[in-house]
Amino acid sequence: MCSGRVDLEFVLRAFSNGMDGVLIGGCRLNECNYITHGNYDALNMVLLCRKIMEHLGLNPQRLSVEFMSSGEGNIFTDVVDNFSKKVKELGPLGKGEEIDEDEFKSKLAEIRKLIPYIKIVKRKKLQSRLKNEEEYDGLFTTDEIDKLFSEVVSYYINPDKCQACMICRKRCPVEAISGGKNLIHVIDQEKCIKCGTCFEVCPPRFGAVDQIAGSPVPPSIPEEERTIIRKSKAK
Ligand code: SF4
Ligand code: SF4
Repeated sequence: MCSGRVDLEFVLRAFSNGMDGVLIGGCRLNECNYITHGNYDALNMVLLCRKIMEHLGLNPQRLSVEFMSSGEGNIFTDVVDNFSKKVKELGPLGKGEEIDEDEFKSKLAEIRKLIPYIKIVKRKKLQSRLKNEEEYDGLFTTDEIDKLFSEVVSYYINPDKCQACMICRKRCPVEAISGGKNLIHVIDQEKCIKCGTCFEVCPPRFGAVDQIAGSPVPPSIPEEERTIIRKSKAK
């Protein structure tokens, strides 16, 4: 129903499934039938996604968003014709850019895993309501997106500090934390979407969740060493 529903994940999934181009159609800006103006959300997402595509070495012209009313069939056909021609000129995805297919696929897979993180970090900009073309041009910059990926934060539970209160495990949105009563909790880095919830909810008196950027995450504590021996029980 609304172009605002077109998520960054949908677009990147289309490219990872081998689509050569993605065209999003939305209602005219400032003519939303509701109060949501989701077409601005679509526009902001496209501006972000184009910068991500540049980061991946893809031509950002492979992604387009066009705004028109449902009565403008002539505009719609022109838009589709022109976009199809453009994509044909660009050639098959990746090959047209002369980038290594395997490297591109693995980079794209890594970035797709970071989508929730990207959406959290760029939440304010993704909610912007832009007024003119100059603002569109500058909403996301190449440096900003390169920095975003070079400074990705990971989360790690310090086994010396975890008190197995289980709060983080209950609040993790993707069940990436394993643990239980009297068991040091551990994050599965493959499942973690880097939302930061565990960092926020770990009680300050424990402060057991560390943010790690720019260095590898330490390996998880072995399963046989995860039981916490409480002092009262150890006597
Ligand atoms: S950051 Fe923490 S809460 Fe968020 S997905 Fe990763 S482990 Fe779960
Ligand atoms: S919230 Fe903190 S102390 Fe509690 S289980 Fe998670 S990491 Fe351990």
